[in-house]
Amino acid sequence: MKILKKEALLGKLHPAQDRDFVALDVSTTDEDQHFLRKEVAAAWMQMHAAAKNEGIGLRIVSSTRNFERQRQIWENKWFGRTLTNGRNLSEGNLTEEEKARWILRYSAMPGTSRHHWGTDFDINSVEDSYFEEAQGQREYAWLCAHAGTFGFFQPYTAKGKSRQQGYEEEKWHWSFGAESERFLEQYNQEIAYADLTGFAGCEVAEAIQVIAVYVNGIARGDV
Ligand SMILES: [Zn+2]
Repeated sequence: MKILKKEALLGKLHPAQDRDFVALDVSTTDEDQHFLRKEVAAAWMQMHAAAKNEGIGLRIVSSTRNFERQRQIWENKWFGRTLTNGRNLSEGNLTEEEKARWILRYSAMPGTSRHHWGTDFDINSVEDSYFEEAQGQREYAWLCAHAGTFGFFQPYTAKGKSRQQGYEEEKWHWSFGAESERFLEQYNQEIAYADLTGFAGCEVAEAIQVIAVYVNGIARGDV
């Protein structure tokens, strides 16, 4: 059973230099270089091939992101260098908690992303609108029917009885259940709010209970 160091749970790693990770065949990605843990990559290759046989094209558009990459994404939103859900957060009079919650609709705080773990990735698009159109609907339906066979599940399902809090629904985000369940357990044992430091807005992590509400606000896989 793989035990991750605390640093790895927080994304403080470099997949390209880590023997537990492997680069994906770019024919299964958006043609950029992507890394996943070896077992996860093997399952991904099988799922990709099975989908292809049925005329479903799956491509990974985001995969392992380390703390530094997540800090860039987060701070670009925090300081208004990029829009966040259509809004410039450097304008208006949002409190720090309000800013964080607005970003957290879809993006994780550095140190709290499942993308740190090498078990999770995004498929084909990170836009709702894509999955509302025919092609996206067909791909999502295929994933719902078959991803479980390969060990994957969708952690951010629609909110409702089975998932009451956390990120908005993400039809594109899939996770390798066996490993990510263990990493989540380790995360809950080892990571405290005091460990979430080193980025703008880290002071509000505890006030908004980012570990309880967001890290743990997932649908459980059948694993
Ligand atoms: Zn994702």
